[in-house]
Amino acid sequence: MIRIAIANQKGGVGKTTTAINLATALAATGFRVLLIDFDPQGNASTGLGVARSARDTSIYQVLIGKSQLTEATIATAVPRLDIVPATQDLAGAELELADMADRTTRLDQAIGQVEARWDVCLIDCPPSLGLLTINALVAARSLLIPLQCEFFALEGMSQLLQTVERVRVRFNPNLSILGVALTMYDRRNRLSEQVAADVREVVGDLVFKTAIPRNVRLSEAPSHGLPALVYDYRCPGSEAYIALAQELIARLPAPAVAA
Ligand code: ATP
Ligand code: MG
Repeated sequence: MIRIAIANQKGGVGKTTTAINLATALAATGFRVLLIDFDPQGNASTGLGVARSARDTSIYQVLIGKSQLTEATIATAVPRLDIVPATQDLAGAELELADMADRTTRLDQAIGQVEARWDVCLIDCPPSLGLLTINALVAARSLLIPLQCEFFALEGMSQLLQTVERVRVRFNPNLSILGVALTMYDRRNRLSEQVAADVREVVGDLVFKTAIPRNVRLSEAPSHGLPALVYDYRCPGSEAYIALAQELIARLPAPAVAA
């Protein structure tokens, strides 16, 4: 199973939009995809049309050991794409986990039990570097970092990379950075170009060639409970996510691509 965490402790940079649409693109390619909503805000769940009333069993129960991952899984309208939803309860999980000896590996253990059922697992992280994100980084093999093309884009990046390094040394030597995805890119805006150039200078080839454009269709789709790729598959945002998925697949380890 390919396990990818989508993380950046900065809020509103496009993590969830990227998670939903990459998951959809990968499912369309034939991969069986599990998206884990790992943010108490539950935006990925809402964006994939999972009503709050349908979230009786969520990732929270899984994390505290009250439920199996498979029991919390819901099929989405997208063929081959399943989701484990999140609820506000998850915000309290950080405190509950704090006292547990295996607090950093709980998500990893839960995913380990379902390895054979899905080809790809995407984890949509919350905007923080707390215990939830640590769990995601311990469970993942790859990290995808969405970066908004704004002035403060690189701020916080070094802290994120430090956290990755700490997790690598202490818990998960298998963790590597798959890439940085530029989001909300605006070609007409000088700043966007400048930020993109700065980011490429700092992290080099880690940056995906595909930049996700600022596109209102991407922000409208969640209110319909649909991925943009389903809501309007020909809009520039959808096309960009399809291209990003292709680049991402090319970067995956060889055996995975054969799936
Ligand atoms: P959080 O840190 O709160 O979890 P996030 O990093 O998951 O946020 P998103 O929720 O994906 O970020 O995006 C933040 C807002 O920007 C949302 O309203 C989303 O619809 C919008 N958005 C994301 N990407 C784009 C884009 N490329 N073009 C236009 N709007 C976008
Ligand atoms: Mg989000």
